[in-house]
Amino acid sequence: MSFNVAIDGPAGAGKSTVAKAVAKEMGLIYVDTGAMYRAMALFMLREGVDIKDRLKIAEKCTQADITIRYEDGVQVVYLNGENVNRYIRTEEVGEAASVISPVAKVRENMVRLQKALAAQSDCIMDGRDIGTCVLPGAQLKIYLTASSDVRAKRRYDELTAKGQSCNLQQIKEDIEDRDYRDMHREISPLKQAEDAVLVDTSHMSQEEVIDEIKKRCGQAREK
Ligand code: C5P
Repeated sequence: MSFNVAIDGPAGAGKSTVAKAVAKEMGLIYVDTGAMYRAMALFMLREGVDIKDRLKIAEKCTQADITIRYEDGVQVVYLNGENVNRYIRTEEVGEAASVISPVAKVRENMVRLQKALAAQSDCIMDGRDIGTCVLPGAQLKIYLTASSDVRAKRRYDELTAKGQSCNLQQIKEDIEDRDYRDMHREISPLKQAEDAVLVDTSHMSQEEVIDEIKKRCGQAREK
């Protein structure tokens, strides 16, 4: 049986940074499920679909073939055969992903693919519904969070370091809107699984968070 770690939490909690680092040190594959929803959002934006039109999204999503592969240890997302990694990291695509992700038809295929990946390999998978829905049997479940002020400030620092101008208040509002949508949708809303460990990183450094998760992974693997 494969060893699976589930990390869920709101936008900007640091899930992917932590998961990537832990995956590398523990020899696990890192599966970024948000990237798959982002690829679907990119498809809809490119097709000019009104992303609020759920019926249209449900109808159109069958035309998007989303797969992931690992190239030099890095997850590459393919949308209808095209590597779209470089197009999915924008705020626009992230926002659009959270608007289309409540559609059941969109989630069905993604969840099937994620379950298959986890059954095949020892992995650490991050997202919103991993502990509650995709991998209910994961050997370790983490719910990673931080206050919206802290998450907004981290995002702000990241963008300004890249030379992009941005507004802290606007980032905080966008994060809170996204949290609300992800936590209040009907299907697989973001919530802490009953057996997940809560890690609030508001007052922790990145190294402290990585050490904490690594320690818990090691303990779960020994069981
Ligand atoms: O984690 P990331 O910001 O890349 O996710 C983008 C959006 O995709 C989230 O805001 C959420 O709406 C959706 N998502 C999801 N289930 C997951 C991962 C992401 O609904 N497992």
